[in-house]
Amino acid sequence: MSNNRIYIFDTTLRDGEQSPGVSLNVQEKLEIAQQLARLGVDVIEAGFPIASPGDFEAVKTIAERVKGPVIAGLCRATREDIDAGWEALKGAESPRIHTFIATSDIHLKYKLQRSREEVLEQAVAAVKYAKQFCSDVEFSAEDASRSDLDYLCTVVEKVIDAGATVVNLPDTVGYAIPDEFGRFIKAIMERVPNIHRARLSVHCHNDLGLAVANSLAAILNGATQIEGAINGIGERAGNASLEEIIMALYTKKAFYQKEVAVNYQEIYRTSRLVSSLTGMVVQPNKAIVGKNAFAHEAGIHQDGVLKERTTYEIMKPELIGIYKSNLVLGKHSGRHAFSEKLKEMGFELSGEELDKAFRRFKELADKKKEVTDDDIEALIKDEVWAIPERFRLNYLYFASGTRLIPTATVGVAIEGVVFEDAGTGDGPVDAAFHVVDKITGLQGELLEYKLNAVTGGKDALGEVIVRVRVNGRTYVGRGVSTDIVEASVRAYINALNKADFDRIGNNNNSSSDQRGQ
Ligand SMILES: [Zn+2]
Repeated sequence: MSNNRIYIFDTTLRDGEQSPGVSLNVQEKLEIAQQLARLGVDVIEAGFPIASPGDFEAVKTIAERVKGPVIAGLCRATREDIDAGWEALKGAESPRIHTFIATSDIHLKYKLQRSREEVLEQAVAAVKYAKQFCSDVEFSAEDASRSDLDYLCTVVEKVIDAGATVVNLPDTVGYAIPDEFGRFIKAIMERVPNIHRARLSVHCHNDLGLAVANSLAAILNGATQIEGAINGIGERAGNASLEEIIMALYTKKAFYQKEVAVNYQEIYRTSRLVSSLTGMVVQPNKAIVGKNAFAHEAGIHQDGVLKERTTYEIMKPELIGIYKSNLVLGKHSGRHAFSEKLKEMGFELSGEELDKAFRRFKELADKKKEVTDDDIEALIKDEVWAIPERFRLNYLYFASGTRLIPTATVGVAIEGVVFEDAGTGDGPVDAAFHVVDKITGLQGELLEYKLNAVTGGKDALGEVIVRVRVNGRTYVGRGVSTDIVEASVRAYINALNKADFDRIGNNNNSSSDQRGQ
């Protein structure tokens, strides 16, 4: 192993999934984990197995099915947590138990109500216990950046003696600033005598907008594992944004002289997937993966880029997988051209999945002159990444206007049998949702509604993301269509399908009462 290698630890599925309002089902988590494996992250933290049956199931499924990266599961420093963690992880090619306990006085006093000695003992015992099952054990000192340095050095030394292979020092509350955090990491490297027997890791939060800067400062001072999430999602202001760290190391390689082992071409696709499955939209001016990250608006910039790209571009969009393709599809495109296009975009579909996607593509091509890459991507996500659908939109009519009471008539197939009903509402979308409730027998409460145009032009595909509460749980639904009422109903039915899937016991979403670092 080269000594300039930086290991990328992705916690999109654990810390990222703790973002307020985000709740992914097992299928969606697996989809993201598979994409993270294609991206080539070194470690995937798949969840917090003891937090809920749904979390357990997700970690177990990912451990068994995703090959390549190390699969980690988070456990508090207790036997019960570690037992559950190992049960979920043991099927993995390379499992890692990640156990943690807080080390700052403020957490000891108010949260744990334990002395420093007791916490030290518990940390060591947890690592030793985990080590009986798994050779790869990571220990995190929660709130490390606010912990007493002498005490923290002792904890780090003792957990390494107990067998920890990775020691992670989180800036749990996002309180650190780069110079200070760099000095902190340097002090740990200098003062812990056995530090070279473990890999030193950091986990930074973005409360002051400094998570990426702090992570880079840690790298300069000896950290070799960086934890973060795609698109920077996570608790509160989020985690360090992995794509920003990866691209900072790439673009400033002469300065950092560090290597990562990721497939840069998968960065953009990973970002899009995480955004669409979590419903957390990426801000347009977000570094690396925002819609405007490579857009040049000012005439003088456009002119410069056309003459020589490097005048205003420090990175090539192609490197991270943003392509402007020449293969344009329209209504005369056949199944073969469509399938070739999908391959070019990185989707590998066959059989029934391909048939379904092709059917939706033909429908769309009838309504739109030119079907763009973004349109196709939106359709694929809508069709292929859908969970099993008990309810399916069959048809939809609505009438509204300035003097009409908005009315909708909706046909919904339940396990293939079409039921029709009609109703009114505050607008055509509201009316249609009421009708869907009536037909499905579920009561959805709409918490949030977002509409995006996937592409430009009057015939743009509209993408609707809804957050719906059903039986006390929140579900994200997504739908696309050239008609926004139809996209809305598709999104709503998508959320209800998830609720229904949950109800029949296939799938529990994670609860939010037990959460870490
Ligand atoms: Zn965190």
